[in-house]
Amino acid sequence: MTFVSKHRSPWMNEELDILRQTAKRFFEHHVAPLDAEARRKHGIGPEVWLKAGEMGLLGMSIPEDLGGHGGTFAHEAVVIEEQAYACNTSFGFVPGAFNAPAVFINTATREQALKWTPDIVAGKVILAVGITEPNMGSDMKALRTRAVRQGDKYIINGAKTFMTHGQQANVCLLAARTSDEGAKGISLFLIETKKTPGFNVAKVLDKIGQNGLDTCEVFLDNVEVPAKNLIGGVEGKGFGQLIDVFIKERLSIAVFAIASAERAVEMTIEHAKTRKMFGQTLWDFQNTRIKLAECASEARVGRAYIDSLILRILNGGEVTMADAATAKWWCSQKQCEIVDECLQLFGGYGYMAEYPIAQLFMDARVQKIYGGANEVMKELVARNL
Ligand SMILES: Cc1cc2nc3c(=O)[nH]c(=O)nc-3n(C[C@H](O)[C@H](O)[C@H](O)COP(=O)(O)OP(=O)(O)OC[C@H]3O[C@@H](n4cnc5c(N)ncnc54)[C@H](O)[C@@H]3O)c2cc1C
Repeated sequence: MTFVSKHRSPWMNEELDILRQTAKRFFEHHVAPLDAEARRKHGIGPEVWLKAGEMGLLGMSIPEDLGGHGGTFAHEAVVIEEQAYACNTSFGFVPGAFNAPAVFINTATREQALKWTPDIVAGKVILAVGITEPNMGSDMKALRTRAVRQGDKYIINGAKTFMTHGQQANVCLLAARTSDEGAKGISLFLIETKKTPGFNVAKVLDKIGQNGLDTCEVFLDNVEVPAKNLIGGVEGKGFGQLIDVFIKERLSIAVFAIASAERAVEMTIEHAKTRKMFGQTLWDFQNTRIKLAECASEARVGRAYIDSLILRILNGGEVTMADAATAKWWCSQKQCEIVDECLQLFGGYGYMAEYPIAQLFMDARVQKIYGGANEVMKELVARNL
């Protein structure tokens, strides 16, 4: 069922209203009907990506001179919110359509960007990002996958895990070590996964939520990558250029978190007002109203913070690492708490996977882990105290 938020953010405008309607249509007509099957199969078909491209929803904030739509973070935020309102995660908008292209655009040479952007924007190229390894997640300096230069190519060996779109993607932006100099020894490579022998997807992982996404274990066995696919053209620059990407990725997680919480509260109010028990409705218990008032208030506070950061970006102000870390940990924490409280009010129905509140619950948990674990976010906040 289509959900229309009662809240209109101060950064919205007529153009973004039109985009919101387009995104709503996309999730309602082209994603929702495939969601159950995608969750069973751990992936949604490439035709959905082509549709997203056709509807102008990919590469929205990529500059026009690089082949994108030249929009802002607000354009991306509108689509992220609509996906959350649709209770969907099986279309990998944040990891695949927003974050991975941002990693690429922020690190690629102009020539590399111009070569790949048109297909990314059209949905013909689906991107994965391969950073995390079996023995390295939060501590990026411990990255072990190695790329060794041999003439006009690199030979890459190692292992990656938790790679979103590992199976579906036709291009992977892969982090590998080109020297032993900690973070400065890490470089990014563009690998055409389907055409490159040795890029082996070992397993699509079963998760406790977000099962519409193919999260994979990948082994790299003497993978040959042309030297021209060293992203940015210079070794060791992989991570220096990603600060802005990390900030926006964390904000995007926070935007999704608050929109999911808002949706959970609205669907629970509707349920409580119609569910009959003890000669009244669930809503008639003071406990229900108090719980939902608490949830709605917390979502509202989170929304105000997110809105202030988006407005600051649009006005050319600075959103710091600490601001984004605050938004990421607090909003994802509140998302999990609010969705849990709401699920409780659905009783046994809340525990049934077919109910949207159950999907919101299962999909929420990982928000406190990926994009930087919430404990790491608090360390970033603490550094500025
Ligand atoms: C569904 C999903 C999708 C993902 N998609 C991708 C992807 O597409 N590409 C990719 O490269 N990675 C991806 N990841 C990996 C994700 O970014 C990592 O899981 C995350 O960075 C945490 O790393 P880790 O799992 O190795 O946990 P670890 O680094 O082992 O951390 C475990 C726990 O230790 C604690 N901890 C860690 N550091 C600190 C600290 N400094 N202070 C205090 N406590 C700390 C936290 O509680 C943390 O949760 C994905 C993960 C999931 C679950």
